[in-house]
Amino acid sequence: MTKLQLTVPSPLVELRDVERGVRVLLKRDDLIHPELPGNKWRKLKHNLRDAADAGATRLLTFGGAYSNHLLATAAAGHHFGFETVGVVRGEEHLPLNEVLRAAAAHGMTLTYLDRTAYRAKADPDVLDGLRRAWGEFFLIPEGGANAAGVRGCAELVAEIDRPFDVITCAVGTGATLAGIAAGLGPGQRAIGFSALKGGGFLRSDVARFQREAFGHELGEWSVDTGYHFGGFARRSRELDAFVDEFERRHGVRLDWVYEAKMMFGLGDRIRGGEFPEGTTIVAVVAG
Ligand SMILES: *Cc1c(COP(=O)(O)O)cnc(C)c1O
Repeated sequence: MTKLQLTVPSPLVELRDVERGVRVLLKRDDLIHPELPGNKWRKLKHNLRDAADAGATRLLTFGGAYSNHLLATAAAGHHFGFETVGVVRGEEHLPLNEVLRAAAAHGMTLTYLDRTAYRAKADPDVLDGLRRAWGEFFLIPEGGANAAGVRGCAELVAEIDRPFDVITCAVGTGATLAGIAAGLGPGQRAIGFSALKGGGFLRSDVARFQREAFGHELGEWSVDTGYHFGGFARRSRELDAFVDEFERRHGVRLDWVYEAKMMFGLGDRIRGGEFPEGTTIVAVVAG
């Protein structure tokens, strides 16, 4: 076990030159830790405590071949003294890509499920098979998206020491949005920008996460599905140009899978004039 240095609370940085008299503050959760950034750390935090309380010595979780969550779980296991098993969607490809290589370097055992079995990964049969293969484990769902993960994300809001009206985040599973929205005060609202195509189901997922974590739905929130740029991990020349331009203007290189889509969508909506002059918006850069 090595000592873990986390930058929490994460810094809040104001963007210059925002149009229409709106103020935008970046919540730099990407700076929390290089391998446990932002919402991946927040979602794991209470899961790790629950695993320790349950006396577990092994964590098992799921992810795609480029999953930041798999890497974060591997790093957390290494730092907090858990064995880790990462169940990867699809077939094994050798040599490992850089994400899986880094996960393996932290001692994560990698195993693979074909796409059909992967879709059924929450079924008791599949989990029994994994228990037979790898022994008892504490299960963390894909993306760290469970009630403990949602509660960890709610803590982000209390770190913001300036008044704000709107908070935005990118949406994959919706666990981060569910948590953030639950932490809001009166008059504040959250907007999640979906990184997936056809993310209409996200609205019911976010509501379900809130019920599981807090017993009922909380806060004022919405999901914007208009800025997925063709779907998850799809990009376009326009999006790439936006990432470069944002870096040039603000000195922050946005992750294009999630954060660039959120910032693009937010900029578009600011220019559209929807936010009155004087509105303060916190944009969460989760990784
Ligand atoms: C995982 C991830 C997300 C998605 O978070 P969800 O809680 O699954 O919605 C957003 N941004 C970044 C940078 C991520 O790594």
